Amino acid sequence: MQAILAAIRDAAKLCRLVQADYLSAETKTAGDHSEPVTIADYGSQAIICRALQQRYPDDAVVAEESGAQFVQLVAAEGRAQIRALLTQVLRQEVTEADLVAWLDFGAGRSAARTWVIDPIDGTKGFLAQRHYAIACGLLLDGQVSGGIVATPGYNDGEGALFYTRDGAAYRAPLAGGDGIRMTVSSRRSPDDIIAVQSYERYHASKSRMARARELAGLGDVRVLELDSMEKYALVACGDADLYMRLPREGSAYAHKIWDHAAGVALVRNSGGTITDLDGGPLDFSQGETLPNAGLIASNGACHGRVVEAVQRVMAE
Ligand code: AMP
Ligand code: MG
Repeated sequence: MQAILAAIRDAAKLCRLVQADYLSAETKTAGDHSEPVTIADYGSQAIICRALQQRYPDDAVVAEESGAQFVQLVAAEGRAQIRALLTQVLRQEVTEADLVAWLDFGAGRSAARTWVIDPIDGTKGFLAQRHYAIACGLLLDGQVSGGIVATPGYNDGEGALFYTRDGAAYRAPLAGGDGIRMTVSSRRSPDDIIAVQSYERYHASKSRMARARELAGLGDVRVLELDSMEKYALVACGDADLYMRLPREGSAYAHKIWDHAAGVALVRNSGGTITDLDGGPLDFSQGETLPNAGLIASNGACHGRVVEAVQRVMAE
């Protein structure tokens, strides 16, 4: 993980440049509710994959974007912008061939070590000047083993870098510097607990989550809504205590591993609990998607009663 921290910081730098200066740039959307893609998605993924290629040339990568998509979807102006941004952040001349090769590094391979990348998680938030994250998780033989999540919006835009190392988890300033060890909170009283959930109403059922809190005796807790894997980071560092992602009624959405692997690593390595809706384990060994219908992440203290409540809500 340590070899990749600098690349994640560079990727976040590029995303901030784009969010500040380029957001009128073309955004491609495949359908109504799908994730939009920006030039920053490609730039961020290129930076992370470049670092992985240099350091771990034989590893496998599962990432949200691809070189083929870039070639097909991004017009000449956008391509030139991405190259200029990469040249600026990496301080080296970057060709389009470099860019495509980096985007596809490790794709379609199988290896004991698989890096799972979401170059911008929460692109809708990114576009709307809300929160987003840059995430890189590591699977060892199909099990989550480590993760890094950069959150440029953390602490009023100061930004933070959350990462795992040797079975522990750390938070560092995004601008640079050492991390301090973090652990989940020990809050258990409904008066103190803080819940986090998706900002986008299409991504999870807000009514089911409200009902589950009510049934768990947490009906009046503070609820923060924000985009991206920053929610996992908030539970991991003790800023929040409960993160539920319950599917909307009738939704058959299959969760992508890149939306969760790095965040799951943070929560586990800081002493938290993360399960499927029935309290069972999440399964990262099945390719690009999770077989799990949803998830519950917490500081552990409120986990049992939330799982019970969720089971009742899902049966209703
Ligand atoms: P969040 O801001 O936590 O809702 O997470 C953003 C992520 O939600 C994006 O990266 C999407 O891949 C993912 N997403 C998109 N559509 C859905 C959906 N219908 N249900 C659940 N997650 C979704
Ligand atoms: Mg995502």
